[in-house]
Amino acid sequence: MIAAAVRVIQQSLIEEGFAPGKVDGQLGPDTYGAVAKALKARQSKLPADWQEWPNSRRAIAYLQCRCTEHAIETGDIDGYWGQQTDHAFDTLSHLLTTGEMPPPWRDDVPLDVNPNNWPDQKEAHLNQFFGQAGHNQTKLVLPYPHRLAWDLRQSVNSFSCNIKVRDSAQRILTKVFDHYGIERIRDLHLDRWGGCLNVRKMRGGSNWSMHSWGIAIDYDPDRNQLKWGRDRAVFARPEYDPWWRFWEEEGWVSLGRSRNYDWMHVQAARL
Ligand SMILES: [Zn+2]
Repeated sequence: MIAAAVRVIQQSLIEEGFAPGKVDGQLGPDTYGAVAKALKARQSKLPADWQEWPNSRRAIAYLQCRCTEHAIETGDIDGYWGQQTDHAFDTLSHLLTTGEMPPPWRDDVPLDVNPNNWPDQKEAHLNQFFGQAGHNQTKLVLPYPHRLAWDLRQSVNSFSCNIKVRDSAQRILTKVFDHYGIERIRDLHLDRWGGCLNVRKMRGGSNWSMHSWGIAIDYDPDRNQLKWGRDRAVFARPEYDPWWRFWEEEGWVSLGRSRNYDWMHVQAARL
């Protein structure tokens, strides 16, 4: 195992109070002893035979546990240093040194196109383009049924939105439906609708929310809470890349993808 990984293991053990000695990047009896204690505390998450594993394998298993506990995908806790563990370790060490998850290797830079010429967020520009807040609303008939995020028994087949965004949103959701199919849509909660038109001020601000014009839509708010970043928000995961691409191809803006908060929210206004 590389010394950097050993150091992360030792540092984590210290933080957990398992006393591996000093952080020197070298595996030895003190570190192994601390690893054994740390694994014992996690027995229920380990394969039954972990106590028979050699020390080096246990140390890797401990690192895999730490990754999992930081919501970093590592696969099975098996004590083997494979490709997935390697990637997970990189992610974990980035997180521990910077306090942030690394930008995913995949291309998650938002597409910068604006084919519908959505205006920026200035109130005057929004009023000019979309009409006064709360006006110019129409019904968006959904290509696949949604459910109210706050009452899943209630199915939604259409909702009110600004007339200028209706066709665009319909095209996007049709692509979503064609791409994912209804089962996957349900799995990924792409049908959990958190609202669109809502004439109100922005949370904690004096400006009108984009929802006031019916040009912003929220999805799956429970798992994409306002202040959550990509380490917690489910919509930051790679399986949502196509979802975001469809919105961005039409010039919509995800606050999650652009600003790393409010991952539930997508809007037809530029930042
Ligand atoms: Zn919103």
